[in-house]
Amino acid sequence: RRFVFAFNEGDKDQRELLGGKGAGLAEMTNLGLPVPPGFTVSTEACRYYLSQGELPPSLAAEIDAHLKRLEAERGKRLGAAEDPMLVSVRSGAKFSMPGMMETVLDIGLNDASVVGLAKATGSERFAWDSYRRLIQMFGSTVLGIDAARFGAVLDDAERANGAAGDLDLDTDALRGVVKAYKGIVRDTTGRDFPQEPREQLDMAVRAVFRSWNTERARIYRRQERIPHDLGTAVNVMAMVYGNLGPDSGTGVAFTRDPATGAPGVYGDYLSEAQGEDVVAGIRSPVPLEDLEQLDPASFTELRRIMAMLEGHYRDLCDIEFTIERGKLWMLQTRVGKRTAAAAFRMAIQFLDDGLIDVGEALARVTGDQLAQLMFPQFDPGFEAKPIATGVPASPGAAVGTAVFDSATAAQTGGKVILVRRETSPDDLPGIIAAEGILTSRGGKTSHAAVVARGMGKTCVVGADDLEIDTDQRRLTTADGVVVREGDTISIDGTSGCVYAGTIDVVPSPVVEYFEGRLDVDEHRRDPVVQAVSRMMIYADEHRRLGVHANADTADDAKRARRFGADGIGLCRTEHMFLGERRHHVEALILAETAAERDKVLAELLPMQLGDFVGIFTEMDGLPVTIRLIDPPLHEFLPDLTELSVKVALAEARGEVDEGDVRLLRAVKRLHEQNPMLGLRGVRLGLVVPGLVAMQVRAIAEAAAARIRAGDDPRPEIMVPLIGGTEEFELMREEIERVLHDVAEATGIEVRAKIGTMIELPRAALTAGRISRHAEFFSFGTNDLTQTTWGFSRDDVEGSFFPAYLEKGIFVTSPFESLDEEGVGRLVSIAVEEGRAARENLLIGVCGEHGGDPSSVHFFDRIGLDYVSCSPFRVPIARLEAGRAAV
Ligand code: PEP
Ligand code: MG
Repeated sequence: RRFVFAFNEGDKDQRELLGGKGAGLAEMTNLGLPVPPGFTVSTEACRYYLSQGELPPSLAAEIDAHLKRLEAERGKRLGAAEDPMLVSVRSGAKFSMPGMMETVLDIGLNDASVVGLAKATGSERFAWDSYRRLIQMFGSTVLGIDAARFGAVLDDAERANGAAGDLDLDTDALRGVVKAYKGIVRDTTGRDFPQEPREQLDMAVRAVFRSWNTERARIYRRQERIPHDLGTAVNVMAMVYGNLGPDSGTGVAFTRDPATGAPGVYGDYLSEAQGEDVVAGIRSPVPLEDLEQLDPASFTELRRIMAMLEGHYRDLCDIEFTIERGKLWMLQTRVGKRTAAAAFRMAIQFLDDGLIDVGEALARVTGDQLAQLMFPQFDPGFEAKPIATGVPASPGAAVGTAVFDSATAAQTGGKVILVRRETSPDDLPGIIAAEGILTSRGGKTSHAAVVARGMGKTCVVGADDLEIDTDQRRLTTADGVVVREGDTISIDGTSGCVYAGTIDVVPSPVVEYFEGRLDVDEHRRDPVVQAVSRMMIYADEHRRLGVHANADTADDAKRARRFGADGIGLCRTEHMFLGERRHHVEALILAETAAERDKVLAELLPMQLGDFVGIFTEMDGLPVTIRLIDPPLHEFLPDLTELSVKVALAEARGEVDEGDVRLLRAVKRLHEQNPMLGLRGVRLGLVVPGLVAMQVRAIAEAAAARIRAGDDPRPEIMVPLIGGTEEFELMREEIERVLHDVAEATGIEVRAKIGTMIELPRAALTAGRISRHAEFFSFGTNDLTQTTWGFSRDDVEGSFFPAYLEKGIFVTSPFESLDEEGVGRLVSIAVEEGRAARENLLIGVCGEHGGDPSSVHFFDRIGLDYVSCSPFRVPIARLEAGRAAV
């Protein structure tokens, strides 16, 4: 097997084997661009080295052969005493990891070749400057010596010579620096700086391979979701010298502005400098345009090459170049990273320029990028250190005064951040009133997180370093910083960071656009909004999947429609009983006699009716899937411990409250160790008489009222959490009976599809029997994930998920991106067997995954009819559904 490839042996599509840099160098070489000759040691060699602890045995001979070729081409020998060839050694993985791994330049210099280099170039100063660079880079990256030690020597030398910077050091001063550097190497490693060029090269190659696994590289990969097992390639290239005098230099450039996507030439140039100097910020570079004055010929040539590369890659390219005594050399190119805004703008520009088609344009933007554009953000220029970090549960930026309970949040008015240890349904008014929510417990599917995401509110949960003291109305950070009620804090739901004080927030013009709040001029003036709006049109034209919204109120429904939803895929009716109305549900659950129960149901009916009328009105002509009540009881009943303490204290004071005593009795009776697996969903509907009938009646009467008003309401009634067909059939009978009764009473027949959620493995595995009775399925992938993995959706993200992510057991939480292999298999089985029994079975998904980009592609692949997600994610799902279809 070969591990080494000359630049002219590869091409741009070999990023896996040659890394991004290697593939780019190969492509430029093939295009006939001025690339210094060199070769790439493949990622495969890296994987071998990292797993075996040594380089592949055949590698040394391969490198020798390629070096020989290189030497022949340059007419020089590596590190020779006379006119030496030097090489650079650079990392380059499949996915770019800027600055994360190592680079060593000027390999081949030693005490003899430095003299030869001076003679050959006619510049002693240059040769000694290069030598000191080699020892500095080699010392810190290969030998692991603290870079600050070298930095200190250089500073001292500059001071002693009255020099303003490294450029002002003369040859003698640089000789002194080299001597001091060599001393550092000897002192710290116990051996002299290696003089043998080939040994330098080998050590550098190993160091680059090792740098794949440094802490910072691992953190970066985790963040960017780059697999840990790819390894990096190493590029060995004949050195060209940007530090060979004033007519030399080095620069980086982009073919368009990667921040905004605006056309033009963007970059930095630094004369008399080498390699990393530009990015390292040693001296301040000048804008690339200045090169036009400094070296017009090279500038013209550079622009020609940049235009050629952009046309060739049909995308934004970033490049690195060096000018050696007026001769331009290309050192790197790749398709450049860009911001979300630039991605949208450039996709449209390339489309309009005829370089790419609509499918390619859609492929170049992502739902995640659109999501970024949709959240208000902290002013990018801010500088502040977070006081705590939690789980980023709902993106965006929120600033407000800290309040520690819901009632205060609702009353305070103005901008508040609701700070709770965890949230309960009682907190809903506070959540609605707040700009953002911060909790010290819970994960991404905790109540606070789900509700906040549904509302598009910024939310950070599980910041477990925070001590939240609701009684004292303050929080304390691990460092002892105290934030009291009324103090301002800022939370970042994209990063999970919490800051003390105010950080400026800018609203998202893209959301203003979706909300219909931009006028035509504002729309025209904003190129990002324009690009997004056009992309949405293309996505809608191409997508096969329907996109519905999870919406529980008329307001949500209205927004869902503005955001382009094709209907409501999940109306969680228990959400209609949060806040004020919660006590009715409590009373219903606790009712001991039929009379008590009927009384509560009679109170609930008009409320439900009103809710449904509102939603149907907003969703006229579109399907509205209403799920029968599914309250995990712990979310609706008082906490057992708190209530026990309250009753015990009251008893001790001799003030027994009969109501509380009775409540306690009932709470004890209904207390469950695992409420998520307890009396909820269809189970509740089957054991609490009258509950389902009341809901169905409300749905049917509301629909009848809208029909009477001339509308076209399209209710679909959905049964939650069934394990098999028996539960569903019982429910179906009751639903049909009520629909029939209402039709008799009103004279209006409401046609409602009756279907079920599939959110338990047993339901998925028996889908063929269920679909004989159900007209539609909607996958509740939150519960299906919980029950397939056996992970409590309430607890895991704050407990062992961080460790699981760290260990690479999964790259993202399965509650966020669907676990295709396991949960997805159940979904596929249910789709297949459900449709086998009923060909026109309508199938959707309404778990959180319905708005997750990668999951949307999976749902498209396996043939679902629609996905349903929170209104704010509707545009994201539309875009991804379009991308999935091209
Ligand atoms: C689900 O389980 O995926 C679902 C949509 O229902 P809920 O989140 O309300 O349990
Ligand atoms: Mg569920």
